[in-house]
Order: sequence, then structure tokens, then C-alpha cells
Amino acid sequence: MAEEQNTCDGCEAESCEDCPSALENPFAKMQDDTHIRKVIGVVSGKGGVGKSMVTSLLASKMNREGYKVGVLDTDATGPSIPRMIGVAENLKPGSEETIIPAHNDAGVKIMSVDLILPDATEPVIWRGPVISGVIRQFWCDTHWGDIDIMFIDMPPGTSDVALTVFQNLPVDGIVVVASPQDLVETIATKAIKMADEMDIPVVGLVENMSYITCPDCGAEIKVFGESKLEQIAETYGIGTFVRMPIDPKLSVAADNSGLGQVEVEAIAPLIDTFEGML
Ligand code: ADP
Repeated sequence: MAEEQNTCDGCEAESCEDCPSALENPFAKMQDDTHIRKVIGVVSGKGGVGKSMVTSLLASKMNREGYKVGVLDTDATGPSIPRMIGVAENLKPGSEETIIPAHNDAGVKIMSVDLILPDATEPVIWRGPVISGVIRQFWCDTHWGDIDIMFIDMPPGTSDVALTVFQNLPVDGIVVVASPQDLVETIATKAIKMADEMDIPVVGLVENMSYITCPDCGAEIKVFGESKLEQIAETYGIGTFVRMPIDPKLSVAADNSGLGQVEVEAIAPLIDTFEGML
């Protein structure tokens, strides 16, 4: 993707490199046809807790509810959104400098590091600033069009890339995804505190893999002991908190690009929260 040129109406700087507002926030300028109403970051304290799965479920459910949805997959450590919800049409060049996002069958627009890698099995060995540059291009140089709600699948933890997103993108709220152990070991609370410090409200807390439902008797088996979800939510004043079970149906769907069609009752309160924000 080529060097940036000034496309801002009324700006007299020759390129964005000379532009004071672009220097202040290099993420400030989006494409003229991009209008995004709300931005939700989905974060976790560490990898492998189901952050991408929750992002996929939330995005797909909002899409089924009739909203225009985008997903910006910034998790270069495991960019899995395209695999989980499928890609019907890959991203393609717009003008010389711009990109048309990919979309899945249902019309969810997607930008992901996965879509620009020649080989999905290769590790992404990019340093933070490079990843930040890619995220900036995904944000600024992409023709997103009208989006009611954009979900950002954030890198796990409190890395500099997470900081870049929080500092530069207009995130309206975050959803924290945690395993039961994360809540006990306060790994998730670091992510909550980071958002707090950046003045971004935590609009939802998901305890994923919270329990298993016994296939024979329907009983809830709490594999990791009693949940601390309610206590943590109360401590940090998080109004919407939900528990998601371990469900093989979900992992099979995720592995087969089928997560977009799966209904998960547990996420309904989060969907209500987003609808209240729109
Ligand atoms: P993260 O984005 O936090 O790294 P993922 O969303 O990629 O985690 O999930 C890690 C793995 O766990 C994936 O294979 C996913 O399909 C599986 N998984 C996540 N949540 C569940 C769940 N509730 N039930 C079954 N499998 C799950």
C-alpha cells in the first residue's frame, strides 16, 4: 500500500506527513464514504479465551438484527475472524491507495491481517509499529461505507498495539472476554483497568467457557469452580455480564466458517446493550 497523499477537503498541506491534525492523530482521516456510528473493542487479558469467537457471534447477531456491521481484526497473533465467519469476497483494491473490505455471505464487512497474508500458516513476525501501521490502513484507507457498529477484535493483553487502538480509534465501549481463571487470577482486570485509564466504558463482560451442560441430565457442570463474574462486574460497575458455556457446536462452527449462523442465547443482553447505544 502506497505513501499517503492529502485527500482531506480544505486542507492545505501537501501530504498527510505535513498535516498538523494527521500528525496529532494519524487515524483521524477516514475515507469520505465511511460513516461509522459506534465502535466496540473486544478485548481479553490473554489469548485463547474466546475473544474472536465472541467478536464473531456479536457481529453476526447484530447483522442478523438488521444492522450494518464491520469487523476490524487487529489480532495479528491469531487473526481468525475470516476463518470463523467465512469470506464470500476477499478484500480488493479500491483506488490506487484504498481498499474495499472483504465481506462474508451475510454481508458483514471484514478487514483482517489474515486476508493480506500469502500463507495462513506463516507466523506474523511484525513489530508493534508495523502492526499499528496496518491497523491504520485498515481504518483510514478502507472504504467501509455506512457501518452501524464496528467490532474491533483487539490483540490480547495490554500491548502497545492495544494501546494504539485505544488512543487513536474512537472506541465507544469495550467488551471484555475472560475465562473463569482469568477472573480469579485478575488477568482480565488489567484489561478493564486499561480501558478505565483511557476513559473508555466497559459495556460488557463475558465469562467464556464458564461451564459445560451435561448432555444426559442437562445439569450445569462448573469445571472451574464457582464463578466470580458477578463480583468482578459489581466491583468495576459493569452493568452487562454474561456467561457462555463450553459448547462443541461452537468450536466446530468456528472451524468451518459457520459461526455466523449460530444462535447463542447467552449474548442477548449484550445485543440489547448495543441496540441501546445506537
Ligand atoms: P482468542 O481470540 O481469545 O485467542 P478464540 O476465539 O480464537 O480465542 O478461541 C480459541 C479456541 O477456543 C477456538 O478454537 C474456539 O473455537 C474455541 N472456543 C472458544 N470459546 C468456546 C466455547 N465457548 N465453546 C467451545 N469452544 C470454544
